[in-house]
Amino acid sequence: MEKAIVIQVEYRKRRSFELKWINPHELRVRAPLGTSKKVIDQLIRDKDSWIQRSRKQILLRELEQVKNYLKSDTIQFMGEAVPFHWEKALHPFRFHMGEEAFVLTGEGASDEAQALIEQVYRDQAKRIFKTRVAVFAQQLGVHVNQVRVKSQKTRWGSCSSKGNLNFNWHAIIAPPEVVDYLVVHECCHLVQMNHSKEFWALVETLCPNYRKYRKWLKNHDTQILP
Ligand SMILES: [Zn+2]
Repeated sequence: MEKAIVIQVEYRKRRSFELKWINPHELRVRAPLGTSKKVIDQLIRDKDSWIQRSRKQILLRELEQVKNYLKSDTIQFMGEAVPFHWEKALHPFRFHMGEEAFVLTGEGASDEAQALIEQVYRDQAKRIFKTRVAVFAQQLGVHVNQVRVKSQKTRWGSCSSKGNLNFNWHAIIAPPEVVDYLVVHECCHLVQMNHSKEFWALVETLCPNYRKYRKWLKNHDTQILP
């Protein structure tokens, strides 16, 4: 389904008309003061082929930006660089995480692709974190209320006194051991709501190499967080 074009009309002290794209979905028309709606409608009809052609060019430019956004032919997922392909097609973007590669098909604005990919990551993150929380909560014998994924700028995870665990969805870019460490860390807060010696000792029982994973998160902080 194609997005409709929104036409914005601005009246100015001028003699001629000016058509300018604000983005691929919004076209600005500058018209002389007092121009009737009928005249503007006629102008839009007359300029139809230019409108279609120039819009397509903008969309194509935006698609190039999508590739720039992803920067390379791979996407990080669970610590691995998964091949990424983009295939142009005449439908809005679809993003598919296959076994061998992640595939983006379709066309649209770069922010649409970005939002779509982020949504898929969020869904995956929710699934992965829920599954791992269930495993470690059982080992610790704690009750977890809710598991949520968020996009926190400064934190990888947090835990509330009500037993809700929050995780940063960007973390699923990390290797599975690091994801597990994050889960263990937040689950252990349900026993020890602090970073005391006892807390770290408990973390160590479930995740003996936790120091290594903490380091990984520290080193990748600025790289992964938006
Ligand atoms: Zn903590």
